[in-house]
Amino acid sequence: MGRWAVTRRGLILGVAGTAALTAWPSPAAGFAGPDIVDCDGWGARPNSRIVNVVNQRPVKILVHHTATPNVDDLSRAAADRLARGIQDFHMDRRGWLDSGQHFTISRGGFVLEGRRRSLEALRSGRKQVEGAHCTGQNLVSIGIENEGTYTDTEPTGPLWDRLREMCAYVCDRYGIAPTEIFGHRDFKDTLCPGDVLYGMLPRLRSEVATLLGRRGEGTAVRAASWPLLRMPRSGPSVQAAQHLLRAAGHPEVSADGDFGPVMESAVRRFQADRGTEEVNGLVGGESWPLLVAQPENADGVVAAALAAVTPRGAEAGPDTPTEETWKRLLTEATTA
Ligand SMILES: [Zn+2]
Repeated sequence: MGRWAVTRRGLILGVAGTAALTAWPSPAAGFAGPDIVDCDGWGARPNSRIVNVVNQRPVKILVHHTATPNVDDLSRAAADRLARGIQDFHMDRRGWLDSGQHFTISRGGFVLEGRRRSLEALRSGRKQVEGAHCTGQNLVSIGIENEGTYTDTEPTGPLWDRLREMCAYVCDRYGIAPTEIFGHRDFKDTLCPGDVLYGMLPRLRSEVATLLGRRGEGTAVRAASWPLLRMPRSGPSVQAAQHLLRAAGHPEVSADGDFGPVMESAVRRFQADRGTEEVNGLVGGESWPLLVAQPENADGVVAAALAAVTPRGAEAGPDTPTEETWKRLLTEATTA
């Protein structure tokens, strides 16, 4: 059916006789995308309640890993089993109405529809299925689950190829810029999609841009992201988090720049107090915004935290930095 979109667009262009009518997706694109197995194709159960479909376009893509074993079985049968296993887990254990993610990609490079109607909505280019893959992002993003655990190893070649094709197709259909591809951890305190796959996202954005004939746009204006901190990490961004934790009522945390057990239990209590989705001792995309937004920050804490991540000799920024400023400083301090 991916071919259909192209054929149809080709037909429209042929009739109109000019590409100037096509504002977006760009005429250079018309990207067909990979073959996608729909829910019936992999034997999905019926959804238990009505799937919410809204008349709006998602504005970003979230990349996940399934945190399942890195299996060697690259067959279509294995892909179908994976999709069914995830659906069973989401419906029977989580109590969701269907699979949480919009799409799934197997290690063998098979792309499967996740939640029902996701494929239909994608083909329309105008509608979005409400997913259940990242609270707060489910109505504005497309969630793609990639089979495997990518904490210390790269995805298979077939998986990677389908992921970039799928991202390009989603970007094309919905008019999403290739820069707007994120990892789950950008929004939550989670290891997902693994350090290695997360580290490959800049390459993914760039390759997606190239596939769309928009080379260079994947790296153009790239928003900074929150660093994911955990034991036994050390450095300036850890120190900044420590200052902010102290301000949040955890004076037992010393601002020494080392993420140790005392800090970890403080993070867990902070997460429990603030009602984050996970209470796991990781400082990621959900805890950072809460940490930097504390009213207690007035008491010189912001200055101390800022000082920890501001390069020596750099001009001091505003007293109450925006989230974007925090992200930029923390990212630079983490990668320096
Ligand atoms: Zn995830």
